[in-house]
Amino acid sequence: MTAQVIDGKAFAARVRAQVGEHVGRLKAEHGLVPGLAVVLVGEDPASQVYVRSKGKQTVEVGMKSVEHRLEVDTSEADLLALIEALNADASIHGILVQLPLPKHLNEELVIGSIDPAKDVDGFHISNVGLLGTGQKSMVPCTPLGCLMMLRDHHGSLSGMDAVVIGRSNIVGKPMAQLLLGDSCTVTIAHSRTKDLADVVRRADIVVAAVGRPEMVPGDWIKPGATVIDVGINRVPNGEKTRLVGDVDYDSCAAVAGAITPVPGGVGPMTIACLLANTLTACCRANGLPEPEGLTA
Ligand code: NAD
Repeated sequence: MTAQVIDGKAFAARVRAQVGEHVGRLKAEHGLVPGLAVVLVGEDPASQVYVRSKGKQTVEVGMKSVEHRLEVDTSEADLLALIEALNADASIHGILVQLPLPKHLNEELVIGSIDPAKDVDGFHISNVGLLGTGQKSMVPCTPLGCLMMLRDHHGSLSGMDAVVIGRSNIVGKPMAQLLLGDSCTVTIAHSRTKDLADVVRRADIVVAAVGRPEMVPGDWIKPGATVIDVGINRVPNGEKTRLVGDVDYDSCAAVAGAITPVPGGVGPMTIACLLANTLTACCRANGLPEPEGLTA
């Protein structure tokens, strides 16, 4: 079997178009413009690239984009004061603090200071708790993107066996909660899991979020399973480098029913879901119906 390729780039373009249409209607019918504020502390090159791309895509879908670039030695008090001001700003519906923060800043404290209704990354403890108890929350963007692709491919996920490899707060755990919410039987595997190969072989759905280049070989995959590769790993390629995922693409694609490539799979969905979350936050803040198909 050769797997169907799940094209995350095309899917993300569709999500952005849907968001853009909805934003147009909000403007025309309610005079509302969803606003996203991104806060970047320091000059981490990868973070700068992400922030630029977030700002550009936010504007492209017709939303307001505000960027706050703070010096690397910004004090915690100053950062918290900025977040407080953004919490109080009615034109801002989503606040994202780009992680990682410089070491002198307490990430938990900073994320905890964001109004949960504006926490478009879904990292605030209130949103984590709401998601864990199956209530309406802001859902972390990367797992939300994976869920959207899985729903689109399968329709219903009910009763499927899902294995999530990785237990991070950003990807693994929320991904498992979302799959549980869609009535999968979920296993979370991690660095201490015994017989990982056997665990993965049981899965109809495999989500790999580990950060180890090509660690999942094709002979771990149940024939016909759907493989969602969250990993983004840069590896040497002659004198240059290239990106690979956490699964060995060629051997997995030969066995799986469907697979996301790296790049061009989960990656583009993350920012698209950030825009979707900002739109959702704006609708909720104004007592309007949420956009269909763009939430968990
Ligand atoms: P993390 O380092 O926080 O977590 C990695 C997890 O993998 C841990 O829970 C650990 O227990 C598990 N793990 C480590 N070694 C293992 C092993 N040998 N076997 C089984 N499990 C093992 O990473 P993260 O933030 O969850 O990110 C995971 C990957 O996803 C990274 O490559 C990251 O770059 C990528 N990522 C991509 C996006 C995107 O937009 N596509 C977003 C976030 C993260």
